[in-house]
Amino acid sequence: MKTEIFGFKAPGNTCQDKKCPFHGEINVKKELLKGTVIRKDVNHSATISWFNPHFLPKYERFESRKSKLRVHNPACLDVPVGAAVVVAKTRPLSKTKHHIILGIVGKGKKEMVAEETAQTARQMKSKKSKDEPEEHHTAKEHHSTKEHHATKGESA
Ligand SMILES: [Zn+2]
Repeated sequence: MKTEIFGFKAPGNTCQDKKCPFHGEINVKKELLKGTVIRKDVNHSATISWFNPHFLPKYERFESRKSKLRVHNPACLDVPVGAAVVVAKTRPLSKTKHHIILGIVGKGKKEMVAEETAQTARQMKSKKSKDEPEEHHTAKEHHSTKEHHATKGESA
């Protein structure tokens, strides 16, 4: 068990998470990134996001650019959505995760979370609209099988 990693102290509670940087057997590299937690889901996973403002000289304004990263959320930290966190690079933990949250550094940017929730709402809507034609399709299939049966009857 480690008590401190790059200045981030181990949380008060312990955990049984094997992929925890403090209580598990995972070693982290000193490649740190900072971002806001925009989504939290099962299996101790989270998604963080941060802004990369890009200056456009022609318009003398900043273009909004964002980065997203899937990270491991250790059981002892259990970082909530909306928190600003520092993550460190590790060996691959799963197909999409190569980073672990080390600690919370404050409140994240609200716009990030708001945008993410709007996006998921849009996705839900598009999923619903997708379901409808599928039902229609199955109904068609049913109809065609009926026809097939009918032709079978005729031939017999
Ligand atoms: Zn832990």
